[in-house]
Amino acid sequence: MPSVLNPVLKLVEHNLHEVRVQDERLLFHVPSSSLFALDDLTGSMIDALRAEGRSAGQLVTQLGTLFSPAEIEETLRELVALELVSDGSETPHALPKIDAFPISTVVLNVNTGCNLACSYCYKSDLAAPSDGKKMSFETARDAVEMMLREAPDEKRYHVVFFGGEPLTHRKLIGQVVDYCEARFAELGKEHDFVMTTNATLLTDELIAWLDAHDFGLSISIDGPQAIHDKNRRTVGGFGTYVTVRQRAERVLARYRARPVGARVTLTTGVTDVEGIWDHLKNEIGFAEVGFAPVTSGDIDTFNLSPSELRAVFDGFKTLGEYYVSEALAGRNIGFSNLHQLITDLHEGHKKLLPCGAGLKMLAVDHQGKLNLCHRFTGSDLPTFGNVKDGIQRDALGKFLSIRLEREGSGCATCRIRNLCSGGCYHESYSRYGDPSHPVYHYCDLMRDWVDFGIAAYSRIMAHNPGFIDSHISPRRPR
Ligand code: SF4
Ligand code: SF4
Repeated sequence: MPSVLNPVLKLVEHNLHEVRVQDERLLFHVPSSSLFALDDLTGSMIDALRAEGRSAGQLVTQLGTLFSPAEIEETLRELVALELVSDGSETPHALPKIDAFPISTVVLNVNTGCNLACSYCYKSDLAAPSDGKKMSFETARDAVEMMLREAPDEKRYHVVFFGGEPLTHRKLIGQVVDYCEARFAELGKEHDFVMTTNATLLTDELIAWLDAHDFGLSISIDGPQAIHDKNRRTVGGFGTYVTVRQRAERVLARYRARPVGARVTLTTGVTDVEGIWDHLKNEIGFAEVGFAPVTSGDIDTFNLSPSELRAVFDGFKTLGEYYVSEALAGRNIGFSNLHQLITDLHEGHKKLLPCGAGLKMLAVDHQGKLNLCHRFTGSDLPTFGNVKDGIQRDALGKFLSIRLEREGSGCATCRIRNLCSGGCYHESYSRYGDPSHPVYHYCDLMRDWVDFGIAAYSRIMAHNPGFIDSHISPRRPR
């Protein structure tokens, strides 16, 4: 009999997580973020090994009245291969070294200036549009060329316009679009343009132009007027809801390129997730609504308190229940947070790092310096090179490797470690002054939310898999 069947075998608890949906036992395979339905044999083996370690022979004896030795042996092999069962021999700990940066997304901070003065704005370098530091066309062009040099083999490149308010430097956006369209066509590469805007500067001409150039648009709006106007105000202190709504409705009426999403910032006192979604989706007509709860902003007084954050996640679950009931009827309610989680589960995403910042994406400031992402431009965190000289590979590789190393951290055995991966670098930077420190302050809420996502995904898969086929991108080959 093969050697795997002889030693005392144990369950590797931190690699599996069981979720019950109705009467079904589901196994969330932590290393690959994949979900399996447990059959009777696998479930029985897991129960037996959870009770105490035992050899393969003992398992055959214990389960032999119900299953054949060959079935038991085969299932055991699968569990060992999935790292769910171990004979206790240590696998050498090998940390991947990062020395390649396949940057396919470049975020251009086109102007540090903004025409609004939202009270919670985290941007430490924010200024009025006229005082803002504007990016030159040469810097933007060099940023695109830097991306092409760093990652020449990508099929598709993404150019993101960010600010301040990006539309306060409209001229540059036009120049970059002309340049990129010609350059990517010459190389035979695909590209897309993305922009998050406060919408106040959108005119009909501009909307038509963005549509013609296929921009992915996301509009910052926080909900009904009383909520939105609390924080999103003009420099003179006036609420912007009426203007933003009017412009958003014009976009929604004419935009054909892609679905337009609303991006909601949830700060202290704002926890009505369902009410906000209902307003933005059903009254204004956004295709998608995504919520960004602020837990570690630069301005402490805007952070959600622990009880408020719990209320936000409760709201996510209530809205999530509605998402599932509508998905079972074939309709997508555009709740981006759950939709993304279900996409990650369906595609079996294994995230060793929390996001693409520094690895697949870099943000360029007006001086051409390279930042981890848009939230770090203007911060005190040292930059990682510049668009002319390229990436400081040693410094960036070292930074990312610290986050990759989970041994000894609270994330090492966390069941959602390959979905959360320690959380947003900027949240960590704001909270601990160290972007490589994991974000530990709402782990239980995150784990509970992922459990909810697993149950939601499995219910949809069981009762209306066509929704997944139509609304979630196809599963990629592993
Ligand atoms: S930050 Fe918390 S929830 Fe995220 S992986 Fe680490 S321990 Fe898990
Ligand atoms: S570091 Fe945080 S804010 Fe920046 S891209 Fe990653 S998740 Fe987003």
